[in-house]
Amino acid sequence: MSSTGTPVARTRREPPVYRRVTVQAVTPVTPRLIRVTLGGPELDGLVVEQPAASVRLLLPSPGTTDLVMPTWNGNEFLLPDGRRPALRTFTPLRLDTPGRTLDLEIVLHDGGAASGWATAAKEGDEAAISGPGRGYPIDPDAAGFLLAGDESALPAIGQLLQALPAAKPVQVRIEVAHADARLDLPERPDTTVEWYDLPAGAPPGDTLVAAVADADLPAGTRIWAAGEAAAVQRIRRHLFEDRGLTRSDAWIRGYWKHGRSGDADES
Ligand SMILES: Cc1cc2nc3c(=O)[nH]c(=O)nc-3n(C[C@H](O)[C@H](O)[C@H](O)COP(=O)(O)OP(=O)(O)OC[C@H]3O[C@@H](n4cnc5c(N)ncnc54)[C@H](O)[C@@H]3O)c2cc1C
Repeated sequence: MSSTGTPVARTRREPPVYRRVTVQAVTPVTPRLIRVTLGGPELDGLVVEQPAASVRLLLPSPGTTDLVMPTWNGNEFLLPDGRRPALRTFTPLRLDTPGRTLDLEIVLHDGGAASGWATAAKEGDEAAISGPGRGYPIDPDAAGFLLAGDESALPAIGQLLQALPAAKPVQVRIEVAHADARLDLPERPDTTVEWYDLPAGAPPGDTLVAAVADADLPAGTRIWAAGEAAAVQRIRRHLFEDRGLTRSDAWIRGYWKHGRSGDADES
């Protein structure tokens, strides 16, 4: 409402434009993760400066292969028929600027629009991406780092392991819902990687929350955590309330919400 009581239409800053791309290659990474290489001339000018950044992936509506571009109505992107487009958030993994390609790695799980699209994706399929959204601002003065996440965070964790200062100790704690989701992460000195299997039927994030609660965090350790929204909320509470850490110590993001479509982009 304005001061005169007149309703004011909500307007938000229009996000970056969508860049049309096509699938160039589809490569299984594990039985639970698939790499989709997207490419095309519209990737010209895309710059990703920080690790663990994000891009929005626009997909054809489920059941179709034609990509219909949405338009910005001042508040959100909508398709010409008024429906919301299928949009999901992923980690821009390897951007090859001269080659104009971008790799995404997508977790395969039941009932997901993006997961289903990635499973069936073949060369030439159309999609579009926008972004990037901000990534992780690495503190060069940190004493060390704890990286904690579930399968959806694996691409970002791999990228972070390559980007963190080599001289700093890093602890990595990863929860997988299936043992075959484990993969080889980039090697670096003074780094320990621990994998946790989520017991069948347990809420996602249960073992990750316990793993973070168990971690020895010397003063000055910076924490990066991402995964299911309710689980990372528990991690946030533990770090801030039980351990008395401050917001600048930890970067925590919900990547998806159990039982709800669409991502849980929150920081
Ligand atoms: C900044 C950011 C970066 C991200 N990077 C990646 C990435 O690199 N790779 C990646 O795979 N995901 C990533 N995600 C998470 C991804 O956006 C969500 O998992 C998204 O919901 C997947 O879309 P979908 O269409 O497959 O499933 P949806 O249609 O959104 O969801 C359908 C059902 O599947 C469940 N579900 C969603 N995701 C998962 C999952 N990972 N495991 C098990 N069940 C799930 C939902 O709770 C829902 O019940 C990222 C999210 C953010 C915010």
